[in-house]
Amino acid sequence: MNNEIRFQFLGGVEEVGRLSMVLETGDIRLLFEYGMKPGKPPSFPLRPPEVDMVLLTHAHLDHSGMIPWLFQKSDQEILTTRLTSEISNLLHKDSIKIAKSEGYAIPYSNDDIKEAKHALKPIEQDQTRNIGDNFEIKTHSAGHIPGSLMFELICDKKILFTGDFNVIDTHIVKGTNPINCDILFLEGTYAGRDHPKKREEIERELIDKIDEVVTRGGIAVMPAFAVSRSQELAMILRKTGYNVWFDGMGKKVAKIFLKYPRYLRSSENLRKALNKINMVHSDHGRKLATQKADVILTSSGMMDGGPVLSYMNKLKDDKKSAVILTGYQVPDSNARLLFDKGMLDFYGVHEKISCEVVYFDFSAHAGHSELIDFARKCGPEKVVLMHSDNRETLVEPLKEFTDVITPLTGETVEL
Ligand SMILES: [Zn+2]
Ligand SMILES: [Zn+2]
Repeated sequence: MNNEIRFQFLGGVEEVGRLSMVLETGDIRLLFEYGMKPGKPPSFPLRPPEVDMVLLTHAHLDHSGMIPWLFQKSDQEILTTRLTSEISNLLHKDSIKIAKSEGYAIPYSNDDIKEAKHALKPIEQDQTRNIGDNFEIKTHSAGHIPGSLMFELICDKKILFTGDFNVIDTHIVKGTNPINCDILFLEGTYAGRDHPKKREEIERELIDKIDEVVTRGGIAVMPAFAVSRSQELAMILRKTGYNVWFDGMGKKVAKIFLKYPRYLRSSENLRKALNKINMVHSDHGRKLATQKADVILTSSGMMDGGPVLSYMNKLKDDKKSAVILTGYQVPDSNARLLFDKGMLDFYGVHEKISCEVVYFDFSAHAGHSELIDFARKCGPEKVVLMHSDNRETLVEPLKEFTDVITPLTGETVEL
């Protein structure tokens, strides 16, 4: 007799953020991700039941942000890569700092973070683990950021949980490939949106824009996510000859990346890129950067904190300079306020920004058509759509070749 498979999303199924899911089959119960939705204040998934193991695809806070909280109640093992564990540890500590400085309730302590770190059950890409007699977990690269995983579960059925994934090669990681499965849990961050251009084309346009800004005597400020995007941009800028200054948590993340060369498309190229860049560690360095830099690469990507605000405070009236956004701007973020209204919130005070503001689509997610193509090539009986605020756009095209399930948070679904 086949065991039934049951799952319940604790969050993040009909929105991008705070992703978490419980999956049960036979006597095995697993928790996939336990994220937070960064915001003012951040929001969290529902409470999970006791589980046998936690599976974490990658370090981004919408997947990993609340993992330390789990350790207030009980101990469990976390199956993820060593790289993901190190980076999420860094992000968790930073979350406490942000909560303190913004005055939000702090959901966990530094001790919980330590426990989460020690609970690591390391697995690398393309490895297999057995749980119980009839259950196997296989890992695959998700092509999203260095060290990111897709989990394949092999029991009576083959189940694939994609986490966030990308199918194209970037400077930092290679894209992933479809995996044959019966049930596909598919992320849909970019549902309804296609990436309009090829990566090489966007890179060329980015460099043309920086040329224009530097030629007119301005500085190109690039607010970028500390994990993966800022390192990718450093690699793109490597051969351009610009005077690049690098500030914020991305520097630490870059060092961690270099400890795990197998997860980088070329650790050599990342190392070379970093060697050419001026690292900023102090206010004095920040002052020098605004005098000498062509490009300032800095966190935070959403401009809600981090050194980028001190640079913008200096450059806000400079029409020759430009802010170059390379990631999606979450609604309510400072980056969105800047893009839509030309304003920035400096810790409660809104100010007009005279710099040019431009956006280039450097996504680390599969676009709409790529999601459909990926799903088709996995050949599933059923697709469960998750991690998307626009799932409806995927339902009809997917129904042409498979059953589609769009569960709600808290709903238990039997397969
Ligand atoms: Zn992600
Ligand atoms: Zn995500």
